[in-house]
Parts: sequence; C-alpha cells; structure tokens
Amino acid sequence: LRGVIDSFSSIFTEESKQDHSVSTSSSSGSMDGIDGVPVTNERVAYKLKGYFDLAKEEIAKGVRAEEWGLHDDALLHYRNAQRIMNEATSTPSPSYITSSEKEKVRSYREKISKWQNQVSERLQALGKRTGVGMSENKKTVPSPSSASVSTTASRYRRGSTQKTSLPRSGIATARNPKDATANPKPVKESGNGYDDKLLEMINTTIVDRSPSVKWDDVAGLDGAKQALMEMVILPAKRRDLFTGLRRPARGLLLFGPPGNGKTMLAKAVASESQATFFNVSASSLTSKWVGEAEKLVKTLFQVAISRQPSVIFMDEIDSIMSTRSISENEASRRLKSEFLIQFDGVTSNPDDLVIVIGATNKPQELDDAVLRRLVKRIYVPLPDSNVRKLLFKTKLKCQPHSLSSGDIDKVVRETEGYSGSDLQALCEEAAMMPIRELGADILTIQANKVRPLRYDDFRKSMSVIRPSLSKSKWEELERWNSEFGSN
Ligand code: ATP
Ligand code: MG
Repeated sequence: LRGVIDSFSSIFTEESKQDHSVSTSSSSGSMDGIDGVPVTNERVAYKLKGYFDLAKEEIAKGVRAEEWGLHDDALLHYRNAQRIMNEATSTPSPSYITSSEKEKVRSYREKISKWQNQVSERLQALGKRTGVGMSENKKTVPSPSSASVSTTASRYRRGSTQKTSLPRSGIATARNPKDATANPKPVKESGNGYDDKLLEMINTTIVDRSPSVKWDDVAGLDGAKQALMEMVILPAKRRDLFTGLRRPARGLLLFGPPGNGKTMLAKAVASESQATFFNVSASSLTSKWVGEAEKLVKTLFQVAISRQPSVIFMDEIDSIMSTRSISENEASRRLKSEFLIQFDGVTSNPDDLVIVIGATNKPQELDDAVLRRLVKRIYVPLPDSNVRKLLFKTKLKCQPHSLSSGDIDKVVRETEGYSGSDLQALCEEAAMMPIRELGADILTIQANKVRPLRYDDFRKSMSVIRPSLSKSKWEELERWNSEFGSN
C-alpha cells in the first residue's frame, strides 16, 4: 500500500507545480492572447485543470479509504476519478493554439493518462481483493443520519465475528481463544449513533494482533518487560487477581532514543497478551481524518471498552499529544481534549480494563495533562554492553563467522552509543563485505564457499555505520528520565 501512496503522491507533487503555472499564466493577462483565439485555448487548460482537481480529490479519498481497509469505498472513489478523467480525455484540443498553451495542454493530457493507468491498476487490484472472501461484508457507504441504532449494533457484531475471514484484522479475533467469550458487555456504542464508518475503521484497521514479534526476540529491556507483564499480560489473563490495590495502572509511556525497541515491545505485547490490541498510529489519526479524528477517538475507546481487556497503543504519541500551544489548530485541540476525557472515563471505572500505551522518542514535547495520565513511564535506553552482546550473538547465529568470543567483546566495546537499529545495520553491512570481495565470481560461487564473517568486517563497517543519536539528544533524554521516568 505504501507503494500506492508513493506513486500517487509523486503525481500530486508534480501536479501542484503544474497547477501553479496555469494559474499564474492566466492571472498575468495572457488571456488577451493572439488572434483572439487563445481565450478558448486558455479555457481548455482551465477545464483540464478542473478535471485534474476533481480527479485528484477522488484519488486522494480512494487512497485514504484503502489505507483504512475500506475497499468498497476505495473502489467507489477510484471509479469516480476514472469517470472524471475520461471526460478530460474526451475534451477536444482547439485548432488554434499558441506553442506554450499547446505544451501545457499536452503535459496535462500526458499526466492524466498516467493517472488513468494507475487508477485502473488500483481498480483491478481492489476488484480482485474484494472478490475474495469479502463479498459478504459488502456494504454501501451508510449515511450516518440514516443508520438506525439497531443496524449499527448488528453491523458491529457482524463485523467482529466475520473479521476472522479477513486478512488483516482477522488474526486479532482468530488468535484469541477467549475472544468468543471476551465480550461480556453489549456493544455500548450502538445507542450513541456512532458513525458506522468509524466503527468499521476501528474494526478493520486498528485492531491488529498480527505482529509476529515474540517476547524473547526483544533483547534486554527487562524493566520494561516486567512492567508490561504486570500491567497488561498478567491482568488480562487473571483479572480476578488484579483488583483493588493490585489494579494495574492504566497508562504507560515507553520513551527513549529512536530504534531501541519501543515499537518492537508493543508488538510483542500484542502477540503475547490476550488483550484486544488497538494499534493507533498517531499520524493516521491526525492527517487522514481531519475533523473526524475526535469522533474516531471517542469510538475507539467505546469499542475498546466493549472488547476489553484492551490495549490502545499509540505510537509516536508526541505527534498528537504535544504541548498545547496558541498557534495550534482547533481540530487538534479538540482531539486532545477528547482523548483526555475518554481516558479519564476508562480509568475512573474500576471494572474497565483498557490500558493506554504511548511510545515516543520526544517525551519532552508531550502535553502535561497527557503525561500525568501516563503514570508509568518506562525508559527504553540505548543497549548497554550486555544487551549489545546478546544482540550480536543472536544476529550471528544464522551466519557463518570466525569471531572468537574475544572478538565479539571487542565489537561490543567499540559500539558504545549504537542503538538497536544501528547494530542491525552494522551487522547487515558487515555481512555484505565477503560478498563484495567476490567481484565477478558472485554469479558462479556456491553459497557455502563464501568466506565466513570476521572481526575485520565489523571494524570496517563501523566507519560506514555510525551511531545515529547525538550526545546532546541522549543527555536530554537521560535528564528527562531522571526527572519524570519511573525507573
Ligand atoms: P522509534 O523511536 O524510532 O520509533 P523504536 O524504539 O520504536 O524507534 P523499533 O522500531 O522498536 O524502535 O526498533 C527498530 C529495530 O531495531 C527493530 O526492528 C530491531 O531490528 C532492532 N532492535 C532495536 N532494539 C532491539 C532489541 N532490544 N532487541 C532486538 N532488536 C532490537
Ligand atoms: Mg517506534
């Protein structure tokens, strides 16, 4: 899907340049033109621009819908875009045309045909996908006002059981053996007239338990694992034990420098715990559904309550919950308030087990009110020498090498300041060294004849792969941890 977005977004940026050139040329008075004809020529360029804008809007909606897994909606928008572009291509070119106008019209037509190809590719891909196993789930976009209470409820229930056959969210339900009975409460939101579309969105895209990261894949980070165990995994398994004073904290913040396993930890929680896991990427909340975001948050919490025990994971939480400022727009202010209200709702009810986990590498930027609610704050630091050693050993396990344990110790000492993802990159770079030496032999050599990795490969790679975190950033995080952190 990234590919889809990238290919479209490259067109969009190209198009905005084009956009500019049309509007400036028209406002600079070229409409008075030569031979009295260019006025109509200009209109053709304008007309094409109009089609462009309309098609662009539809494509953007289609991409967005696809991102949320709403394939039927995506189909609808792409079809609209296609129709608009067909009209554009059937607009005849004028017979009298200046060369610069000709150039503009030509480039419009060229780009439109590029769009057409991409859109029909998407239509084909979606057509195939919706054809498989999704026909039952077919829905026309419901208008929120016409959706009756009972339809909302039945749709939701249907959604939650049928999802087993769907590729992404299905795993969430399928993997959880308790899930069939894990819905002790009726779906509360049915009475509140929530938008069906928002419900669908949450069901199909946010609920996600597919990540395959296991607890043991995460090297080190024992403090963080312990906290997650006590807050999420055990309480979800033994709700009877974790009541009263043992009632787990409801908010947790994982913070620390980039690339050290925050997201990985959350994925491990998702696959190892029995809780329903809502993976909310902060950027998708803000950028994709401006205006809808606060409703989405509200619905999210309602669904989380109805399917508890639940974990709401917000990656990059700083990007939506940053300190409130005067320049901030109304929508994001409302989103934040809604989040706080909903969060207080679940914490105040002793029966609800909904836990919010946020992850960030910029904890300093978090709003105080949000920070106060994320009571447990766990520092996920750069790996120390023990963790680095562990990481190297696991990475080298599946690769022939001739490093002695003394060599490994040396590499470990020399990689002070490297993050988990830097180490990953270092190992990948080192592994390429023997391959690069092969030259033309690479095409003929037997796989088991490639020489094993040695210490020198790592030493050389260290000059290419440098630690990505600056000392000042690291110090800032350490300071924040000693002031606000739980460990
Ligand atoms: P960011 O703040 O940039 O989101 P992050 O802390 O969420 O970073 P991850 O995405 O969890 O970082 O980790 C990046 C990659 O680094 C992982 O996919 C993994 O390959 C490696 N990695 C980092 N920490 C560990 C660890 N403790 N154990 C094993 N692998 C790790
Ligand atoms: Mg991350």
